[in-house]
Amino acid sequence: MIRIAIDGPGGSGKSSVAKAIAKKLGIIYVDTGALYRNIGLYMLEAGINPKDAEAVGAALPSLTLELKFEDGKQIILLCGKDRGDEIRTPEASMAASDVSAIPAVREYLLNMQRDTAKKNSVVMDGRDIGTVILPYAEVKIFLTASPEARAKRRHAELLSRGKDVSYEQVYNEMVERDKNDSTRAIAPCVPAEDAIFLDNSELNAEETMDKILEIIKKKTKQKPNFYAKAKVVVAPLFRFFMRVKAIGIENVPSDGGLVLCSNHIAAVDVISIGAVCPRQLTCVAKKELFSIPVLGWVMKKLEAIKLDRGGSDVAALKASIKAAEAGRVLTIFPQGHRCPGVNPATTPIKHGAGMIAYHAKCDVVPVCINIKGAKYGLFKRVEVIFGKPISYDDLGFTEGGRDEYLAATEKIFKEICALGNYSSLPDYDPSKDKIKNKKKRK
Ligand code: C5P
Repeated sequence: MIRIAIDGPGGSGKSSVAKAIAKKLGIIYVDTGALYRNIGLYMLEAGINPKDAEAVGAALPSLTLELKFEDGKQIILLCGKDRGDEIRTPEASMAASDVSAIPAVREYLLNMQRDTAKKNSVVMDGRDIGTVILPYAEVKIFLTASPEARAKRRHAELLSRGKDVSYEQVYNEMVERDKNDSTRAIAPCVPAEDAIFLDNSELNAEETMDKILEIIKKKTKQKPNFYAKAKVVVAPLFRFFMRVKAIGIENVPSDGGLVLCSNHIAAVDVISIGAVCPRQLTCVAKKELFSIPVLGWVMKKLEAIKLDRGGSDVAALKASIKAAEAGRVLTIFPQGHRCPGVNPATTPIKHGAGMIAYHAKCDVVPVCINIKGAKYGLFKRVEVIFGKPISYDDLGFTEGGRDEYLAATEKIFKEICALGNYSSLPDYDPSKDKIKNKKKRK
């Protein structure tokens, strides 16, 4: 999966180049400006001043906006109707710029844009794609040109569509829109810190396209990262000495954000899963591990998320949601701590996995680490059983909240337990839980 964000001011040619690139790569092109344009048009037709944040916010619930793709072509239905070129008039352009400065409008469109990029590889163009909508985009480009060059292009485009406007009018409107877009308080049109800046004042469309393709090629050249290198060394050793075997590997989707939930027997569970899982895992680890020499360095290199188990760690939660949103595989142990030697179906669980799936809006793959007696041993055989993904829609969320998160986690954990053979093991007994009791004494 690849997300390419192309931001920049109007007339920089980003939509034509983004469209051509999407076609060449066989992925979807998302023109986010068209969303703002439709809302701008709606407000104009409803007689609402597009600058009036209160009135625009109040009118939003009365419109419907549907973004879909047919044969890779974007279609936007405003109140059920495709408004075509009506959204391209200078009035609609100005109205789009005005409504786009209103926080309620940006909020309204945020998930629509993110959801599209979650399900598909995309080239998305706009103003805040690299900074706000897809901060984890693999490629970010900020495309711009001098106001004169951009106005000239836009003028020619409008004339070719039979619009009778003067160059001066186009230039003045463009400068005003630039000012609006780049100075607004929310999501201004500015390059992301890690965006590649490209000025195409002196380049034609073909040259711009070549430059951008070159950037994409460079950015997406797969260099094996630390995780991949470590896996090459650790996985074969672990598979050999622990006799790790994967079952149901086809149940792991090849891309997209995911929460992978497993029962927890020992600290090496994550190595068992990582040794056979075809995708890179992002794990959450207690903060104490990060201060152990060497191990701390390894954890950082593996991009593990640091968790303070002393209370509710909001930063760790946010980082986990971001990781899943960014298309990573987040590994979570709903039991919260190791529970060796007992039937996992009888252990208490926490609500975190459900909470992360809810906020990141992603599916969950249940995983059971199945070992005889629920304890590791050299050459004993560890089965890592991947269950069928549980779709986000089947997790029973309506409006979120602790009860829903817990119910979803319980559902996930039930499926985890059903994958293994632990029913004959003793039930969990909190008074015999050495790991938890040791933690409590500390
Ligand atoms: O790109 P386009 O010119 O069609 O965008 C119309 C207007 O929508 C822009 O002037 C800008 O104000 C707004 N916009 C935005 N954020 C985006 C895309 C467009 O604010 N991601």
